[in-house]
Amino acid sequence: MKTIYEGKTEKHDLGTSQKCHKCGSEGERYKGKFSCPSCSLKDYNADLNAAINIAERGIKSLGKTEGLGAVP
Ligand SMILES: [Zn+2]
Repeated sequence: MKTIYEGKTEKHDLGTSQKCHKCGSEGERYKGKFSCPSCSLKDYNADLNAAINIAERGIKSLGKTEGLGAVP
């Protein structure tokens, strides 16, 4: 059962430090490194991952739909 709260319909809107910038799944941040079990991203710079998520969110808020696919 899912409950949709007013103003919070994006259930996948994870915190920027938890969200994988590559696949959007929830990953794990540990000691400054980010790992994602869903796409095998490992030991990625956690701050950079979060920064990309924030940037991507900003881009989407401007009405552009493409992601930052070129980011490794
Ligand atoms: Zn991932």
